[in-house]
Amino acid sequence: MKNIDAILQRIEGKRDELTSLTQALVRIPTVNPPGDAYEACARFLGERLAKRGFSVEYIRSKGAPGDHDMYPRVNVVARYEGSSDGECVHFNSHIDVVEPGPGWSMAPFAAEVRDGKVYGRGTCDMKGGLASSVIACEALLEMGVALPGALEISGTVDEESGGFGGVGYLAGLGYFSRPKVHHVIIPEPLGVDRICLGHRGVWWAEVETKGRIAHGSMPFLGDSAINHMGAFLHLLETQLQPKLNQRRTQEPVEPPGARVSTVNVNSIHGGQMAQHYSTDARGWPTGDLPSPLVAHSCRTVIDRRFIAEESLESVKREIVDMLNELKLTRPGFDYGLKDIMSFIPTATPQDAPVVDATARAIARVLGREPRYISSPGTYDQKHIVRTGKLRDCIAYGPGILDLAHQPDEYVGIQELVDSAKVMALATLRLMGVEDTD
Ligand SMILES: [Zn+2]
Repeated sequence: MKNIDAILQRIEGKRDELTSLTQALVRIPTVNPPGDAYEACARFLGERLAKRGFSVEYIRSKGAPGDHDMYPRVNVVARYEGSSDGECVHFNSHIDVVEPGPGWSMAPFAAEVRDGKVYGRGTCDMKGGLASSVIACEALLEMGVALPGALEISGTVDEESGGFGGVGYLAGLGYFSRPKVHHVIIPEPLGVDRICLGHRGVWWAEVETKGRIAHGSMPFLGDSAINHMGAFLHLLETQLQPKLNQRRTQEPVEPPGARVSTVNVNSIHGGQMAQHYSTDARGWPTGDLPSPLVAHSCRTVIDRRFIAEESLESVKREIVDMLNELKLTRPGFDYGLKDIMSFIPTATPQDAPVVDATARAIARVLGREPRYISSPGTYDQKHIVRTGKLRDCIAYGPGILDLAHQPDEYVGIQELVDSAKVMALATLRLMGVEDTD
């Protein structure tokens, strides 16, 4: 179709606009936690799209974890009805970013442009991808292409903290289900020529070991929960870890180091609350003072990532079996186990429409075949699959995943432009606009 070249050219001509849109989004510091400036960012996006003919809704996830009058969880969903009935293509981006952290060589929210890159917290993960999807849709509308179906763009909150007040909440209201939506592209920074089909599974659980409090100078009168936890962690490292290293998946998880099952200890706490000790010039203790106690409780959060070849039930049973073995063999050992969160692995089939359309668009724009990958960690696709029951979903967007959450995060401007082109062409094919090759 001759229009294709014109569309690609139009997006090429929007290079500066795409750059400045990315900058404008990055300059709204939507840091999570606590969830700063969500409403400002949602409104910025909504007002822009409303001017282009989208109908815009702001949905606050009242009562969701983290929602608070000081930090309202405000999501934005914008929908453009095409010229006739058809399927809906939805671009979903999370608007939250993680805190900048230390180590930056420039201001993290200044969105400086240097050497063809935009720098700042959220450039790569994932305001650059959001900007690309906006420019892709706007270019299609400006070209006056007759679109059967609908276009949707959403900016959602809290992805970095599980997405329960964002995509999870909206999915519960039907925002990510048929017949409203048919195809979803999440512009996470997976790379301009890679299509992410899904992710490994996750199980977070809190394990608590129990002990008996006593004076720290006479530990034999008590029973240390910290020592019991040490025994559990020792088994985790010496028994479970080697088994997990052997369990390889057929899914194309990137990086390849994550093509096995993994476990991490996210946090541990035993005994008294964390304290900050110091001494003054005389050598006297200052700050919080400890007291001598045998710990009666020790808690740890384990982060178990599992592969498509395992079931959640078997993953849990493995840990429970280890804990029960300790209970039988280690005097005084007792434990509690609490589920925090779990999602099973998901993988969109390679012949799904959204995968096929994006693959063809990548080949057309970049002149090479896409790589299919799977993510080691979950992202909002989990809610779309589990709650929305929508399988036609991928992550595709500009940026280098390794830069996410790092100091001096950036996104390349050429990548922004290329991925906007891919998104526009994929959208046309998904909406059934003919001859898009
Ligand atoms: Zn992200």
